[in-house]
Amino acid sequence: MIKIYRLSNVKVSLDADFSNLEGVISKEVGISKKNIFNCSLYKKSVDARKKNNVHFICTIDFDTTAMIKQNNNLTEISGEKYTPPTGDLCKGQHIIVVGSGPAGLFCTLTLLKAGAKVTLLERGECVEQRTKDITEFQNSGKLNINSNIQFGEGGAGTFSDGKLNTGIKNPRCRYVLEELSKHCNAPDILYDAKPHIGTDRLVLGVKSIRQEILNLGGVVLFSHRLVDIDIKDNTVKGAVVSSPDGEKYIECDKIILAIGHSARDTFYMLYDKGFDMCQKPFSVGVRVEHPQTLIDKSQYGDAYIHPALAPADYKLSCHLEDGRGVYSFCMCPGGTVVPAASEEGMICTNGMSVSKRNGENANSALLVSVEPKDFESEHPLAGVEFQRKIERDAFVSGGENYSAPVQLVGDFLKNRTSKNFGKVKPSYLPNTKFVKLDEYLPDFVTKSLRLGIVEFGKKIRGFDMDDAILTGPETRSSSPVRILRDEHLVSNIKGVYPCGEGAGYAGGITSAAVDGIKVAESIIENIKNS
Ligand SMILES: Cc1cc2nc3c(=O)[nH]c(=O)nc-3n(C[C@H](O)[C@H](O)[C@H](O)COP(=O)(O)OP(=O)(O)OC[C@H]3O[C@@H](n4cnc5c(N)ncnc54)[C@H](O)[C@@H]3O)c2cc1C
Repeated sequence: MIKIYRLSNVKVSLDADFSNLEGVISKEVGISKKNIFNCSLYKKSVDARKKNNVHFICTIDFDTTAMIKQNNNLTEISGEKYTPPTGDLCKGQHIIVVGSGPAGLFCTLTLLKAGAKVTLLERGECVEQRTKDITEFQNSGKLNINSNIQFGEGGAGTFSDGKLNTGIKNPRCRYVLEELSKHCNAPDILYDAKPHIGTDRLVLGVKSIRQEILNLGGVVLFSHRLVDIDIKDNTVKGAVVSSPDGEKYIECDKIILAIGHSARDTFYMLYDKGFDMCQKPFSVGVRVEHPQTLIDKSQYGDAYIHPALAPADYKLSCHLEDGRGVYSFCMCPGGTVVPAASEEGMICTNGMSVSKRNGENANSALLVSVEPKDFESEHPLAGVEFQRKIERDAFVSGGENYSAPVQLVGDFLKNRTSKNFGKVKPSYLPNTKFVKLDEYLPDFVTKSLRLGIVEFGKKIRGFDMDDAILTGPETRSSSPVRILRDEHLVSNIKGVYPCGEGAGYAGGITSAAVDGIKVAESIIENIKNS
């Protein structure tokens, strides 16, 4: 009988031939190569703890009919995996999904496979036009408030590094990876311990998912922004949508709010309609840029030039005496700092990379935790206003033309305005202006960042180098608000389902996609039970 096994903790040299995994298995478990079938990498990570012995640690799946002597690293696996519900489970239901980020896309796909009629509304443009709009913003400083790094087909993570790690443990995570691997033509994300897609492959994947939605009978409407919800007897009846042809009314049975963390106008509309919402902690700070080789040398030692090693990343954190946390977030090896504003007269930054991560600089967000007490208001949307103030002040500091305010690390630590760039050149477009961070960030943020950078310099040699660049502000690391939902994932308005990162139930691409699937499954379950 064929059995499927998973062998973990296999030490593999950087020079190994990964097309000969059978040889590796044969050596490890003591059976002949000819009895080993369907070998595949399940996980591959770099072990660089000892800089004179950098190697890969792999988990490998394989089938065999041979008898194997059990060992601690070997488990028999069932081969069972998550599959979404299918059939005529939602027949006759018209469901509007608002937002085509990972939450909205995976929710739409799951509902369509369960027989629902789905209209997907997206305020931004299709990814082809969105790419042009972002390039135009970077070249000329002309912001399109509905088609930018935050808004448009694919959602906030399309022009990103596309990291897919998640802190959540859920069988749907693997399913999301498999779907993204298929649509983005990215087989590596299925086994890489730190999977990432990159903007180039994400753009292709988003187009491919749109095609699958259309093939399944879904309707996709770009440049369609939800501006009001028709509610009678505390139950949703329809959506009011602003479109290029004017305002439209679309009748529906249910609405999914997969609107992301930057849909501030929509948050205010929902608040005015009486949706229950509450404040949520988040973080603010800046992007830091170093030479990628500095990070590679620090993480890999002398092995850093080995062609089998991908550009290195890092994850840093420290707790300060006053209880604040400072940490690196969304590190983009070989990436660029991008202009992530979505409102006129405000600036914010984020990071992206292409799949090869082959740019000169490494960048990551350096963030300081922000608690609701910092908002100085009980209003559920006070966190939005906290973000807006920083973004407006940064816009003014930068010269009111979307130039980002920047300061070199050495000057920031000595509290003086920088004059010239040194070894590191900034990647942010359209432009930068030398400004003290203290001009636009709250005191507790700059104070914490100063302490954090010095601490991080002890962990990564050169992290606190004088020439590293701080570009700011980074304000949209996660949603400042949560739209409340019950155990069936429904809001206080019947038929309306808050979903994904903007609603406060996810943090990142994979967990947002998983939340989209969970909301769709909850709707299917509710319909079955009604
Ligand atoms: C530059 C950048 C880099 C990032 N890098 C990573 C990364 O490497 N890894 C990672 O896991 N996460 C990353 N993130 C975060 C990640 O993108 C989000 O966690 C994720 O996209 C959230 O998914 P979502 O579907 O909940 O919301 P979003 O992806 O934000 O999607 C919401 C969508 O709703 C639309 N919308 C909003 N309001 C309306 C309305 N009223 N009517 C119609 N449509 C509306 C928006 O246009 C948007 O397309 C990054 C984010 C950015 C901005």
